[in-house]
Amino acid sequence: MSIDRNPPPSNRQLLILLGLFVGFVLGVIGLIGWFINGLVGFIPPQVEQKLGAIIVPAYERLAENSDTQQSLDRLLDRLETHLPPEQKEGRNYRLLLLPESTVNAMALPGDAIILYAGLVDRAESENEVAMVLGHELGHFAHRDHLRSLGRILLLRMAIASIFGDAGTWGSIAGSVVESVSRSRYSQSQELAADKFGLDLLQKTYGHVGGATEFFERMSRKVGVDFAFLSTHPDPGDRVAKLKAIIQERGYPIRSIKPL
Ligand SMILES: [Zn+2]
Repeated sequence: MSIDRNPPPSNRQLLILLGLFVGFVLGVIGLIGWFINGLVGFIPPQVEQKLGAIIVPAYERLAENSDTQQSLDRLLDRLETHLPPEQKEGRNYRLLLLPESTVNAMALPGDAIILYAGLVDRAESENEVAMVLGHELGHFAHRDHLRSLGRILLLRMAIASIFGDAGTWGSIAGSVVESVSRSRYSQSQELAADKFGLDLLQKTYGHVGGATEFFERMSRKVGVDFAFLSTHPDPGDRVAKLKAIIQERGYPIRSIKPL
């Protein structure tokens, strides 16, 4: 009697193999993600500028020059003078105001802050806009934007290499632009950026009036095209945390400047 030494693999065995393969792939992606997280702190601003040169032009095409853009540029310049020296060296901060009703702001590699007109329209003081800009400058300082971009890039490259889709390689740059606008930061990254913005507000104005008002109003609004909500933490929760920090640091709150 002969025994079949190579029986056809059962479904169960195939499933186990597939599970091992998926686990291996996820493990590798996780490991590289962890590696990137540690590595981003060492990426020199010049390299980041090159990365920005691939991504930012897509947004530059949408931006319009206006009086508002110019006064926002002046506000950003003013905030910049109060940044710690290590946040100024080799940096080229600029602001792009996009004429869209979306209420959102984001930090792109290459030191570009995207601000949607919807956010500016709903702000009631210069200080509120300064807080949002300070928050985005905080993401730059902590290099959060590079962390999320690194993960997105890696995931795309992993998918392209696993499935051997040459076409995907070519579209990576394009899809990255799309992904960047939808990238989310963790709650702790958001809180750290808020703290950075708050400190910058205090240094710039000598008080933190306007730090919470915008988020307070937004938490009451329903039905607003509030993309800030989908990429940022719950504004109510955020206001409570900011107020606690303001009290802890003893920051004064004085009258705010109209826009
Ligand atoms: Zn943020």
